[in-house]
Amino acid sequence: MTDPSYLEALEFLATLLPELAASEAETPVRPPLPLAEAAALVPAISDDGRPLSEVLATLRELALRTPLTTTPRFFNQLFSGRDPAATAAEMLAAHLNVSMYTYKAAGPMVLVENALLDHMLGVAGFRAGEGTFTTGGSLSNLLAVAIARNEAQARGGEARQWALYTSSAAHYSMPKAASILGLGRQAVRRIEVDEQGRMRPEALADQLRADLERGVRPVMINATAGTTVMGAFDPIEALADIAHEHGIWIHVDGAFGGSLLLHERGQQLFAGLERCDSLTWDAHKMMGVPLTCSALLLRERGALERHLGEDADYLFQTHGPEVNPGLRSIQCGRRNDPLKLWAAWQRHGDAGYRARLQRLLELRDHVVARIDQHPELCMRHTPESLNVCFEMAGVSSEELCAQLNARGLAVVGHGQVGERSTVRLVLINPAQTEAVLDEFVTNLVAVGIELRDA
Ligand SMILES: *Cc1c(COP(=O)(O)O)cnc(C)c1O
Repeated sequence: MTDPSYLEALEFLATLLPELAASEAETPVRPPLPLAEAAALVPAISDDGRPLSEVLATLRELALRTPLTTTPRFFNQLFSGRDPAATAAEMLAAHLNVSMYTYKAAGPMVLVENALLDHMLGVAGFRAGEGTFTTGGSLSNLLAVAIARNEAQARGGEARQWALYTSSAAHYSMPKAASILGLGRQAVRRIEVDEQGRMRPEALADQLRADLERGVRPVMINATAGTTVMGAFDPIEALADIAHEHGIWIHVDGAFGGSLLLHERGQQLFAGLERCDSLTWDAHKMMGVPLTCSALLLRERGALERHLGEDADYLFQTHGPEVNPGLRSIQCGRRNDPLKLWAAWQRHGDAGYRARLQRLLELRDHVVARIDQHPELCMRHTPESLNVCFEMAGVSSEELCAQLNARGLAVVGHGQVGERSTVRLVLINPAQTEAVLDEFVTNLVAVGIELRDA
């Protein structure tokens, strides 16, 4: 007989989730919860425990006070929206609770993962390649640096000093990877960017020449495809030329921008990818599946098993390596993250995602036109992807963002563009509309005028 308390939990969800969805539609921005009030929602763990019904009631209270990330007024991070097929698959994954290391433990779910990886490799142009799902772009990047370092070591032994080349606008997971892997943060060369936030290839070539003369060994060149603040794309082709000239591993951090490979605009931005060694691609950003869902893809097959495949006869007991992905993973126990992406992709198809990206680019153009037309507002770059960085004359971007959030109008963040602190709007929710964006601009200007006159 099914455990009655599990049925109670399922019934709780069946009631709560529609309630939450209705409340999100009603109040798309929850006013920020004062920290002092938050503590009251988090009872201590006791020796005796509590009845399930009480725990479920606490979960409900917590859920109702948690910031909303799925509504069209959430522009704060590089993810938003909610995909029905993906969310259902995610819940199913929690129910099934398989671990994605072996066919024995995960059965057909391994074939789902393999099919998905093959599809993504095809989109990336890495048809003879391989891939693995990780817990996020940071881990995909870490793994890429580890593989690049191991491959460089295998070719030329240890070095006194290593260097990792990435732009000054790159994600902080790069210095973190250098730190974790023992290369040291000082190994990271933060190469200058142009006014659009793209790495300058000449600056890279100069730094590389200086390092090589001093006997420093390059580990990797990282090209960012969609920087965190500006959404800028480093010139992959030019960076690949430099990498090939010196035999250096070239990685593309497409944690944010990877999904744009599904759109012809994005394919242009990714020109040269087929000459790169590895690609980080987060599906929990532009593809709208629940956190986390990230893949590391490699152009050639073999490196994953070379550096991650360990003999563990207590685990790998049946079937061949192709259906035992634990041999190619940085993890042992691993959540079934591919299932949600596969379910969403089954539903939308490539064309559905292409249309979604087209729509998001149109919404971006719409809001950029509004900003350009507005006498109080000023764009601070020419957007290449879905990030729009702008300022209001005479108003602090930090203060503007804080006030929009406090008043329940929008959740939006600020980011540094050169010397300027800008409002950074990320257009990533397919439920976004022109009307919401127009209202956002109107509200922002009204709040800004109030702040300026205060
Ligand atoms: C988001 C992002 C990351 C980190 O990915 P997580 O999944 O958040 O760990 C790395 N690089 C870039 C360019 C990103 O946008």
